[in-house]
Amino acid sequence: MSAYADRLEALAAEAADRCTGCGKCFEVCPTAREIGLDPGEAKARVGELLALTLDGGPAADGLQKWLNACDGSARCTDACPEKINVRQWVTIAKMKALNAARPREVGAANAAGRFRHMAQAVRLLASMQLPSETLKKILEPAERRTAEILFYTGCNVLRTPHIVLNVMDILDALELDFDVVGGTAHCCGVYQFQEADLPTYERMGHRTFQRFGQSGASKVLTWCPTCTKNFDELEKDVEEPFFDLGHISEFLAANLETLKTRFVDQPKRRVVIHEHLGIGATVDSIRKLLSAVPNLELVELVQDSGFSYACGGQAAKFKGREQAIHRALAEGAIAAGADTIVTMYHSCHRALAGAEAVYPLKVVNFTDVIAEALGRGGHPDYYRLYKAGGAMDEAVTAARTFLTGNGVRVDEASVQSLTADIFDETGLAGSREAFAQAFTALAREG
Ligand code: SF4
Ligand code: SF4
Repeated sequence: MSAYADRLEALAAEAADRCTGCGKCFEVCPTAREIGLDPGEAKARVGELLALTLDGGPAADGLQKWLNACDGSARCTDACPEKINVRQWVTIAKMKALNAARPREVGAANAAGRFRHMAQAVRLLASMQLPSETLKKILEPAERRTAEILFYTGCNVLRTPHIVLNVMDILDALELDFDVVGGTAHCCGVYQFQEADLPTYERMGHRTFQRFGQSGASKVLTWCPTCTKNFDELEKDVEEPFFDLGHISEFLAANLETLKTRFVDQPKRRVVIHEHLGIGATVDSIRKLLSAVPNLELVELVQDSGFSYACGGQAAKFKGREQAIHRALAEGAIAAGADTIVTMYHSCHRALAGAEAVYPLKVVNFTDVIAEALGRGGHPDYYRLYKAGGAMDEAVTAARTFLTGNGVRVDEASVQSLTADIFDETGLAGSREAFAQAFTALAREG
């Protein structure tokens, strides 16, 4: 076993040692309830978790169902009277149970397939929406960077790259020395960890984290909630880094007084934030930031913010529940007199970007609002055009230019795969055909 694997074992053993077996973590677990596990059996499930941690796998049947259902919401961690990071413990236990249940090669093949699919979609979507100089800047190896602050994008936000451009604008407005780094060569290794392929995870996610340190940056700002959670729980707790690590929203909220002095007049709007708990102080930070934007009124809406830490990802296995959350959010926003939904993360933005095809609502990311309040931003959200449907002329014209600049060609098969990727995700959308037809025509141009 590697030193890294030993340390994970030790983290789980520490949790088991402190656990009193009260069962509160299981009682509050939203996904255990979603699949019908009985909260009255909480002590039995936690007993099985303790047995797996101390004696090894395979997991007992009830525990295995709980582990499979987990989507990382962290409600368990918040409920634990002993302040145990239960989400972290469950994540490690899930990996152990998988390891005991099947040969590592099976997980490695699954992880490689999932990674390959994600990398192809990200590469294509980024190449359709970003100029080559910006893309090259983002993909440059982390260890070659020199700035004090490293803004780490992760992989998947590059499907909606206007968000990255907004963050760069905001950091520019703060006159900070920063580099931006991301893309699949700097993956956080989430698929490998989830599929219990620990050796490959160590060469990916663990290595990405080490490369941050090699850049010499004193602060690493994350964007992606999954990367943030993984680095926090599977890296920072394994070995304390030399740099500070935190989500960009928390950093911006800490710099709100400076931002406020640079805000310019804004149009009147009433906004609802699509909230997800579970990642540090992101909800509070985004609320704080938006509350300070001129002429912006935050509309309060009771919503199901504890079901998952973000849309998609591990929560995508609960399609019906996600759909209900999105519909309730949009309908609740309209009933409350809001005109805009503000998304926190990129996966939520992808899920909700098509809402304006269905409801009289605008959908923007919080970075759109802050960048524009600073007199910057305004980067076209092509993904929203894809998702909302309608005339695709603007999206296709931009894609033609960006694809040429990036030396990337789309063929009909890649358009088909991309269409499925974009429109099969849970969320609100307009016409799938509008995207498929317009981009198939672009592919046929050769
Ligand atoms: S992280 Fe959320 S889904 Fe996973 S065990 Fe904890 S409460 Fe349940
Ligand atoms: S809530 Fe905490 S102490 Fe109670 S069973 Fe869960 S992990 Fe153990």
